[in-house]
Amino acid sequence: MNIEGIDVDIRVRNNKRMRRFQIGTDKRRMQVYASVPSWVEMDYVEALLKENVDTLREMQKEIDQSKKEIDFSSMYLFGKKYNIEHKDGKTKIGEINNNTIILYGDMMESAARLGRSLFKKELPRMMDECVQVTGRAPKEFRIKRMKTKWGTCNVVAERIWINLVLVQMPEEIIKEVITHELTHLYVHNHGSEFKKLMDDFYPGWDKIEKANMEYNKYGGIIR
Ligand SMILES: [Zn+2]
Repeated sequence: MNIEGIDVDIRVRNNKRMRRFQIGTDKRRMQVYASVPSWVEMDYVEALLKENVDTLREMQKEIDQSKKEIDFSSMYLFGKKYNIEHKDGKTKIGEINNNTIILYGDMMESAARLGRSLFKKELPRMMDECVQVTGRAPKEFRIKRMKTKWGTCNVVAERIWINLVLVQMPEEIIKEVITHELTHLYVHNHGSEFKKLMDDFYPGWDKIEKANMEYNKYGGIIR
């Protein structure tokens, strides 16, 4: 929804208990958003947003500032660098053409869709290889967009989530994260027992974790 020149992403929540709506900045998708309960009329939403246009403007400024820090001219997939070519119009999944990635419409969204589809194809194999090494398999694993974590392991459900941003990293970094999460199936904390297992499963793991996964090098448009 466009409010006096500001694009506000309306996120309708199907939550009966939700009583009021919320506006905020989504730094991953670089959008100002409003989350609104599904029972609210859109006319009312628009009126309320117009009332808060000063706040929205501040938020848009913040997003514009953050956007300047993103490189929209190139991106990484599995550690390989590609040039970006942008096509205006409808947002759809990006395409790889030799050393170039073509992104359509909303660049971040287009890149995220491409990343997710490639990651979905490759992750089961990588998981398999790590399972062979660790001797433990999760009951379920999924690719998720997460704000702060590379991966999570729910030890009760034996469910592992891998952050979508990792699709930009070289395979050995992704596998380190997978191995880390699989190791939590043996040891829940990060104590000495955990470290000993990691030394066995993935020599040099601590260097990778200390380097913050080279996120600064590979992390970019997919976030
Ligand atoms: Zn951990």
